[in-house]
Order: sequence, then C-alpha cells, then structure tokens
Amino acid sequence: MAKKSKDKRITIHLECTSCRTSGMPGVARYTTQKNRTNNPKRLELRKYCKYEHKYTLFKEVK
Ligand SMILES: [Zn+2]
Repeated sequence: MAKKSKDKRITIHLECTSCRTSGMPGVARYTTQKNRTNNPKRLELRKYCKYEHKYTLFKEVK
C-alpha cells in the first residue's frame, strides 16, 4: 500500500493578529509546518511578536 507522505506535512505561515488590527506598518510572521491530518483547521498559536515585543496570538494565513 503506497503512502503519500509529502501530503501530510505542509508549510504554513502564521501572522500576528494584533499587528493586523492595530494598523502596524509591518505584520510579524512565522513560517512553520503542520500535519494536515492532525490539524485540518486553521492553526492558532501564541508567539513572540518582534514588532510589538510581546506574546500575541498568531493565526494561520495562506
Ligand atoms: Zn504583532
């Protein structure tokens, strides 16, 4: 039985929701990977925002 392993882990981009709503000139982003099978929905993570110098909520964007 053949498996398509490359389809399971995909590269995604996380964008700071706080930067977006506050109208900052730049939006902090992280590039990461996720398992599509385990996380079919949009990923949300708390990460350090380098623009605001604090931990904020990052959401997956396309
Ligand atoms: Zn931010």
